Amino acid sequence: MHRMLMDTPPLAMDDLAEAERLEALSRFDVLDTPREETFDRITRLIKNIFDLPIAIVSMIDGHRQWYKAYEGLENREVARDETFCKYTLQDMTPLIVPDARDDSRFAQNPMVTAGPQIRFYAGAPLRTNEGQNIGTVCAIGFEPRAFSPRESAILTDLAALAMDALELRQQASIDSLTGALSRRAFKDQAAQALALAQRHKHGLACIAFDLDHFKSINDRHGHATGDKVLAAVAEACRAELRGSDLFGRLGGEEFALILPHTDSAHMGGVAEKLREAISRLAVSNGRTHVPVTSSFGLAALDARTPDIDALLANADAALYEAKAAGRNRCVTWRPANDKPAGPRRRVLKAGRILFNNRTSSIDCTVRTLADDGAGLDVSSSIGVPDTFSLAIRSDAFEARCRIVSQTERRIEVEFC
Ligand code: GH3
Ligand code: MG
Ligand code: MG
Repeated sequence: MHRMLMDTPPLAMDDLAEAERLEALSRFDVLDTPREETFDRITRLIKNIFDLPIAIVSMIDGHRQWYKAYEGLENREVARDETFCKYTLQDMTPLIVPDARDDSRFAQNPMVTAGPQIRFYAGAPLRTNEGQNIGTVCAIGFEPRAFSPRESAILTDLAALAMDALELRQQASIDSLTGALSRRAFKDQAAQALALAQRHKHGLACIAFDLDHFKSINDRHGHATGDKVLAAVAEACRAELRGSDLFGRLGGEEFALILPHTDSAHMGGVAEKLREAISRLAVSNGRTHVPVTSSFGLAALDARTPDIDALLANADAALYEAKAAGRNRCVTWRPANDKPAGPRRRVLKAGRILFNNRTSSIDCTVRTLADDGAGLDVSSSIGVPDTFSLAIRSDAFEARCRIVSQTERRIEVEFC
């Protein structure tokens, strides 16, 4: 086991509270999803009602503030440390900063002293029913300004509207773009199918797949074409499946299937058929066809699978291997005693990258975790050395890491 329990400094209440907050955020599956009109409408309202140049509906994860909707800005995310909203997150009521230059918390903030030169800020927390603040709704201006109690009440109502929309989005059972089951509905129905299979001792297979390099499809051909690809992929899959199969959209361009009455000997054929059907798709961007491929992970129910989360995690770990092996392929999950590494779990945890004898640190969000490694999101991977320590304070976890691959915002490490 490579994990070490940290003994110093002691685990703070703050870290546990932050871990619970991130868990609440992860239940909404909203990070890195495309813009949606419901939230865009809220930022338009904020701009118009308060006559201010910038309005944001944001989520705050381990290392960054990410914008679900925004007006008056170009970037979609900013390092958490630099934000005003990290203060809004700490409270139940709106944070009003009439003039940032007069406020010791913000006077030296780079957004005030340089960059956009923010002077006015009003932000209300996005608070879940369980009382977790997962993000903010805020209005920002370049001139000092007062904000009346009435205005503050309106902002609070707009935050409540955004929160209602997030709850509804989460509860919907059908995804409107693809017609697939939403994540929640898929998991509910999959759990039932799994319980039946366990009781009656029949086979059940899980297939997870994720479109390859979908970011560059969006970047090259535009978001509308990306949406067309998603809808076409879903239609192609449905054409190949049985009526009793469950087909769900788990996230942006990640899908999963449950095939009742299908054992490990037969699931490979189904996955291969889907992989080929997707690679044959001819979605047009108006001028040319957009090539699209996907990577598949397969896992069959066996006596060691306790529940749907474990089955999905196995399929997901195999999918991760398919990506690492070059994409556009199917990989079947093997139990731990067949291979050295355990499955990766998808997580959302606040982490810290420590280097230079612990004198330097960078915040990160841990997105995948296994006994032998992790996947980390950072605002920028520039300056991160090849080896470092990763600390996850809420888990009292620390491990030495070696980078195995990296892009601008994602670092994959193995523990050493
Ligand atoms: P990989 O092969 O490793 O899966 O690469 P990738 O680019 O597909 O990786 P990643 O999962 O990081 O990117 C997924 C992208 O999908 C990011 C997001 O902007 C986009 N996306 C998510 N949901 C939607 C959607 O509903 N419509 C469109 N057009 N894009 C979406
Ligand atoms: Mg992808
Ligand atoms: Mg993906």
